[in-house]
Amino acid sequence: MRKIISGLVIGALAVTAVACSSNDGGGNSLPKTGVAIYKFDDTFMSSVRSAITSAAEGKIAVDIVDSQNSQPTQNDKVDLFVSKKMKAMAINPVDRTAAGVIIDKAKKAKIPVVFLNREPLADDLAKWDKAYFVGAKAEESGSMEGQILVDYWNANPDMDKNGDGILQYVMLKGEPGHQDAELRTKHSVLAIEEAGIKVEKLAEDTAMWDRVKGQEKMAAFIAANGDKIEAVIANNDDMALGAIEALKAAGYFKDDKFMPVVGVDATDPAMQALKDGTLLGTVLNDAENQGKATVELMKVLAAGETPTKDNTGYEITEGKYVWIPYQKVTQK
Ligand code: BGC
Ligand code: CA
Repeated sequence: MRKIISGLVIGALAVTAVACSSNDGGGNSLPKTGVAIYKFDDTFMSSVRSAITSAAEGKIAVDIVDSQNSQPTQNDKVDLFVSKKMKAMAINPVDRTAAGVIIDKAKKAKIPVVFLNREPLADDLAKWDKAYFVGAKAEESGSMEGQILVDYWNANPDMDKNGDGILQYVMLKGEPGHQDAELRTKHSVLAIEEAGIKVEKLAEDTAMWDRVKGQEKMAAFIAANGDKIEAVIANNDDMALGAIEALKAAGYFKDDKFMPVVGVDATDPAMQALKDGTLLGTVLNDAENQGKATVELMKVLAAGETPTKDNTGYEITEGKYVWIPYQKVTQK
């Protein structure tokens, strides 16, 4: 047994060595690919980025670049990938409506393109059979957030602080226009209504997926609505964590003063907040599998093949989409 294990360790070391020299171990160089992330300074995308790096080891050589939240910068990066003759590329668009321009560039250069996280419009994706999308169904994450609040409402009658039978909530939205922001906002509330609970929106504002902005907006919501707020729905964990900071500053999470806050992503700090009992629940946005699927697709496409379940390990829907499921995460 020990021999087998040490053999595995040596095998793993060999794989690592392969990745560093970006060849396949037999001295053959790996296909070159390019990945452009909308901005490196995004908690969730950082996890996807490291998932891509580790999944690529020994399979493809990836050049991962930061688009710095600027679509013109990203378009320049795409031009760079074209001039470097990449075999495939993966793009996390800054502005998802710009995917059409990127597909035109990719098609002209015959470089297959996999979009991730920010979903291109269907009409754009339809422009080329070598354009794909790896992501998660935004409405699913919204419904799950709503369901977490429904369960809490049903189990804790005190949640209805003013006893009017209506759930008064505030909404922290991600970047407007982003499918995850629009659909999570809509479906979280819909799930609550579908459970037969009446809702009243006290306030809604965008905090652009950002923790500091989440804290600022929540502080403003508290100043305007005070104890009327019965729940906080955030489109992602960073904004939920920001809201928790603002709530703490307003005296919440001590002496029995509680506020149900829900988010999406299940980032490490969110899992910690869940343990601490400040975050009520979140939804796993599976960075690991989104990164891995992106790499598997690029690998197959770089080899000139068509991605299938057999050669990627992921179901390809409508010949274009890989949907990674979400998962509810709660304290118990
Ligand atoms: C994540 C956010 C992230 C955004 C970036 C979403 O799916 O939930 O945390 O900021 O993607 O596009
Ligand atoms: Ca109420």
